[in-house]
Amino acid sequence: MSGNWYTEKQTENFGITMKINKTLHVEQTEWQFLEMAETAEWGNMLFLDGMVMTSQKDEFVYHEMVAHVPLFTHPNPENVLVVGGGDGGVIREVMKHPKVKKATLVDIDGKVIEYSKKYLPEIAGELDNPRVEVIVGDGFMHIAKSENEYDVIMVDSTEPMGPAVDLFTKGFYAGIHKALKEDGLFVAQSDNPWFKADLIKQVQSDVKEIFPITKLYTANIPTYPSGLWCFTIGSKKHDPLAVPDEQFHEVDTKYYTKELHKAAFVLPKFVKDLAGE
Ligand code: SAM
Repeated sequence: MSGNWYTEKQTENFGITMKINKTLHVEQTEWQFLEMAETAEWGNMLFLDGMVMTSQKDEFVYHEMVAHVPLFTHPNPENVLVVGGGDGGVIREVMKHPKVKKATLVDIDGKVIEYSKKYLPEIAGELDNPRVEVIVGDGFMHIAKSENEYDVIMVDSTEPMGPAVDLFTKGFYAGIHKALKEDGLFVAQSDNPWFKADLIKQVQSDVKEIFPITKLYTANIPTYPSGLWCFTIGSKKHDPLAVPDEQFHEVDTKYYTKELHKAAFVLPKFVKDLAGE
């Protein structure tokens, strides 16, 4: 932070800057440098290791798109796992699906959960839902010991650094394949195509080697670097672009719609090239 402005540097030459009204909490946790601040434009925001994680004003885009695209793709998502996601936003969206009987959240950092509940209550509000089990632990290890258990897995992790490095490996995707039931599917946030092209290519090619159906979709997220964000789906059976009409049900959202579910897979040419499509 400098004066009352905060910059997330994406490269040596580019960053995204916002005005801070008030710093709410700063702490070096066991895993990462956590900052919570009230911003002038975006409401309260969570930063980890100097990177924007979420903001009260635009969080709905990311959380809805991580949760609803895979959940509407699966005909009966009863048992769901969220890896990371300690702010609770993905879980809040998962809880909007009545077919989900149980959702487990595994975040490595209990402090993210604690301070999200305190300063981002409308994002973290469903973490205490009785259908939700919250585990503070390493998502990689949790996946490694799971077998044939989940219908849908969502990876809502930080960038591939610090505790999240293992969550962007082929070994992790192979573990996810094993942890999913025979018709299971997963989604992982896979960063932006402007500055992380190599990462997107790598994730796509690793997931393609393991899952018969691999697809990339995007969403527009103003507080994330470049604004254009990618998500990778790996699925054993169900195609996100072949969802029967009757599988969609009413859901209270601000970004996701049935039409956008399909449109999000229509990629700009340079992103299509990265996805190898
Ligand atoms: N939406 C954000 C984004 O795309 O920048 C990320 C949200 S943030 C809640 C991601 C979470 O991943 C953090 O709370 C962090 O503690 C967690 N995380 C990082 N590595 C992890 C690991 N190995 N296992 C479980 N959670 C992990």
